[in-house]
Amino acid sequence: MNEESVFQNEPLKDFSIQTNRSTLRAALADLDNRIRAGGLTASPIINGHEERVGSPISAFDPSAHSVRIGEVYYASRELASRALSSCSLGFRAWRATPPQQRASTTRKLAALLRQHSPFLTALIIREAGKTWREADADVAEAIDFCEFYASEMLRLGEPYRTQHVLGEDNFYLYQPRGVVAVIAPWNFPLAIACGMTVAALVSGNTVVLKPSEQTSLIAYEFARLVFEAGFPAATFAFLPGRGEDIGRFMVEAPETAMIVFTGSRPVGLEIIKSAATIAPGQKGIKRVVAELGGKNAIIIDEDADFDDAIRGVLQAAFGFAGQKCSACSRLIIVGGAYEEFLKRLASATADLIIGPASDPASFYGPVIDRESFERILGVIQDARSLHVLVQAPIPEEVGSSGWYVPATIFRDTPLEHPIWRDEIFGPVLACARARTFEEALDMANECEYALTGGVFSRNPQHLAMARSNFEVGNLYINRSITGALVCRQPFGGFKFSGVGSKAGGRDYLLQFMEPRTITENTMRRGFTPDLQS
Ligand code: NAD
Repeated sequence: MNEESVFQNEPLKDFSIQTNRSTLRAALADLDNRIRAGGLTASPIINGHEERVGSPISAFDPSAHSVRIGEVYYASRELASRALSSCSLGFRAWRATPPQQRASTTRKLAALLRQHSPFLTALIIREAGKTWREADADVAEAIDFCEFYASEMLRLGEPYRTQHVLGEDNFYLYQPRGVVAVIAPWNFPLAIACGMTVAALVSGNTVVLKPSEQTSLIAYEFARLVFEAGFPAATFAFLPGRGEDIGRFMVEAPETAMIVFTGSRPVGLEIIKSAATIAPGQKGIKRVVAELGGKNAIIIDEDADFDDAIRGVLQAAFGFAGQKCSACSRLIIVGGAYEEFLKRLASATADLIIGPASDPASFYGPVIDRESFERILGVIQDARSLHVLVQAPIPEEVGSSGWYVPATIFRDTPLEHPIWRDEIFGPVLACARARTFEEALDMANECEYALTGGVFSRNPQHLAMARSNFEVGNLYINRSITGALVCRQPFGGFKFSGVGSKAGGRDYLLQFMEPRTITENTMRRGFTPDLQS
């Protein structure tokens, strides 16, 4: 039986069950008490010790931006330098630790994440503005990454014999690379930071983690659990800080053997470029894994099941206010389906409930911060000459208290317009009509990104065409295009959507290790008894 068939994903919480609802409500109430009592604090952690320099930066709740939920001490370059040295020193012992032990420590971390899941879910709701279900899925995915990569390391940890030949032993094995700089985004504040970190740790590397500025409190809670799980002090360091400062420093440092980045295309490309510049004292070529953005399309065929398709499009375009790399931001509707589908989509969108992330009735909550809020509204404003199909209203009572952006759909979008071409990372959907299914596929593929894509169709020939010609890393047929599960739908794209193997898949850990072969002539003559211990 292979790994995929035995791996079980962490079940998502069913919030229609009373006990699940009350557990999360209690966790939110506890967190709110802590916030009222002064809030949470995150600090850099180096060699197992918390370090504080300078004044902290305040963190606010995007659903109610006057509410300060905590403070974050940023790392200085001096601290970052100490973190890299500590993790360089820690590498030798950690790489010699048996894979089984590394895997069991990673499983311990999964157990701790499970144990603290209500608190972590509540904090994601408050700091990242995710709704209940999205926040719960973030925690479940983090647990999945720990469990899956632990089992993967057990599979890859044993050297294997390449061929059996007389007089010669040939073994193939993997060794870790060294210090891995992990640079994380805010939109999956726990899952992605955790996934990149544990992949590196379980495969025998040491890790310096820089979380996103917007979600350092969640990442700090994760960092504490990493130590509680039993990862030795010098295997992991936590460095909150600004990307242009601490992130860049980590990328350029000679101690860094590998950079694992998830984030925007411009930053990813800058990292790839600067990793190619050799720093004095650097020991090898830096490996970069960069998972970047998307401009994902869903195609609605003429014979699509509209009920399914409307649900799938709403979820993909507006879940977490469209702030997912996998979100749908282009909708291509074939021929005669165009007007009828748009009519139904407009009325469903107008009914969406937009409100605080802590309110379980909210379909989606705020965008992450003022900068995103102003940028996305600016994009909508710049496209005002286009035809707006619908804009979902923001209820007056929540409107000005948080960073709420109305779900906005444009119809008849010109294919050269930035709304059609550029990643927006907000609740904005551009629609266009295709004459035929073939043309729809061409329109979908005419894109710099290749991350996710979807097709709603009942036509087997069209589905076969999509399977072979839709240029995306993750293709979804007759379902929504977000919510990939670890192991079941390994996640990642190509073109400008990034370089590297899919997260949560069988090839992912291989990126964190160097393959080696060892060949021994077993027909050698004689032996040296004096050297035997
Ligand atoms: P971002 O690029 O602004 O920031 C990501 C991280 O990089 C942050 O920790 C930031 O501090 C750091 N950073 C910024 N400048 C840096 C620099 N010069 N050097 C080193 N580090 C630097 O991205 P974001 O706004 O946090 O996340 C949104 C983006 O992430 C979107 O483009 C989205 O599509 C992408 N994303 C991709 C995936 C995927 O799996 N492909 C998943 C989630 C998000």
